Amino acid sequence: MTTDPLAVAHGCAERFAARAAAHDRDASFPSDDVADLRAAGLLGLLVPAHLGGSGAGFADYVGVAMALARGSGATALVFNMHASVTGALAGVPDDLARSLGAPESFFAARDAVLAAAADGALYGVAITEREAGSRLWALRSTYAREGDGYRVRGVKSVCTGAGHLDGYLVAARAAAAAADADPRVSYFLVPAGDGLTVDATWDPLGMRATASNGLTLDVAVPADALVGGVEGLAVLLAYALPQWLVASYAAVYVGVAQATLAAALDHVASRSVAGTPGGLGSVGFVRARLGRADAQVEAARTVLEEAARRVDAAPGEPETNRWVYRAKLLAGDAAAEVAASCTEACGLGALRRGAPLERLFRDARSGAVMPPSSDVCADFLGTAALGLDPITGTEVRPW
Ligand SMILES: Cc1cc2nc3c(=O)[nH]c(=O)nc-3n(C[C@H](O)[C@H](O)[C@H](O)COP(=O)(O)OP(=O)(O)OC[C@H]3O[C@@H](n4cnc5c(N)ncnc54)[C@H](O)[C@@H]3O)c2cc1C
Repeated sequence: MTTDPLAVAHGCAERFAARAAAHDRDASFPSDDVADLRAAGLLGLLVPAHLGGSGAGFADYVGVAMALARGSGATALVFNMHASVTGALAGVPDDLARSLGAPESFFAARDAVLAAAADGALYGVAITEREAGSRLWALRSTYAREGDGYRVRGVKSVCTGAGHLDGYLVAARAAAAAADADPRVSYFLVPAGDGLTVDATWDPLGMRATASNGLTLDVAVPADALVGGVEGLAVLLAYALPQWLVASYAAVYVGVAQATLAAALDHVASRSVAGTPGGLGSVGFVRARLGRADAQVEAARTVLEEAARRVDAAPGEPETNRWVYRAKLLAGDAAAEVAASCTEACGLGALRRGAPLERLFRDARSGAVMPPSSDVCADFLGTAALGLDPITGTEVRPW
């Protein structure tokens, strides 16, 4: 049996592709796909080997997520959320965590979460709120000390996998702090169970098979649920190490763009049209659309892989972080533009309900709006290009 994560991911993607239309139609959670991920050991991809995982890095994640997304963008997004939690926990070096004030108890709690992932536990992320979007500084969910631990209260509007997860990374602000523009925002790892209510709100245009439902929390958690063991780390980490909040989505949407181009090529190659002896592929402007799509997909993939290489080599460097934002911007835009152009090239056959391209067209639309949106990424990059600090040099605060 192969244990190469990329080869395993390709095998999973073939099975996901066969199920994708049904899960999309019903907006049902792809439990069978997640069972495949679990059986293949991919839920432990980013978990260090001594805790039972594969010990993979960011570039490995990118390859695996792109491959999974070629089978199902929705399942790849579920995997992305899990990878964001496990990758971020595994990726912060112990000495950095200690220098930020992490107590020794944090390391044991972190290792338990990572070992559980290698054993098949599935995690997700609950940041977004109706009024705040995913802007951490604007969140209204709160936490406060209660007994030996904390009470977390709030209403999250979107959480991929809600109701199907073993644990949730929840962002909340200190209740004691004033609701000003600079709150203390912390992450908590909240186990599934009492105190969490799933609000069945998910019936969107695309990425339907992600069960990205709402979540209401009024839950007591132990002290070691506070990620890092220190309050107020959320905004700091988002700016310092943005790969798991920014570039990880890019891998999903480059994979969706690749799947879209492949589906368009299949459609064009097999479509015969009366009066056009060579079929659709003999029409020059149809070929040109495929050519532009090919160049856009490869450009996005190349930038993503360069960002990933830099994340592994020099995480947190300002130049690395610019590549991270470039990758997110280009992936979201490439997915949406390639899907729009390819479906136009393929005609109504691509847009009939249930056709692979029709689903991909809808899935691709979500890339640019996932945080930070393409506009926010572009603003970050433009600010940096002007020689200003991309975090403080503009009125737009990505996090
Ligand atoms: C398929 C899918 C899965 C998702 N899964 C999750 C998940 O698992 N967990 C989670 O927490 N969230 C999740 N989200 C939610 C996602 O994070 C939000 O869609 C995103 O944060 C934007 O929020 P919004 O859509 O409410 O847009 P709005 O907040 O209404 O904003 C609209 C647009 O304006 C921009 N904008 C608005 N105000 C500002 C401002 N002050 N500064 C800069 N830009 C601004 C936004 O970036 C956005 O592009 C998911 C979304 C999708 C589509």
